[in-house]
Amino acid sequence: MIQPLPAWMADGLCAQTDPALFYPDSGSQARPAKAVCTGCPVRRDCLEHALTNSEQYGVWGGTSERERRRLHAQKGATR
Ligand code: SF4
Repeated sequence: MIQPLPAWMADGLCAQTDPALFYPDSGSQARPAKAVCTGCPVRRDCLEHALTNSEQYGVWGGTSERERRRLHAQKGATR
């Protein structure tokens, strides 16, 4: 079953940007997308969504795939 998109996604600045920017080939190429996220009003919601749903690919909430893996590891270490 397809889940409806969360309401906050409509307010994301990436909706007004080239989606390809948010799926870079390498971490260093993620900088332009992360710069967009810096001014995004739903950044916290976006990061929470990515961490909760274990989004593996792309830039979410201003974080790269590697940064989210690190956050997951830190979260697991504090339990
Ligand atoms: S934080 Fe970044 S990826 Fe998330 S909705 Fe905003 S612009 Fe898009």
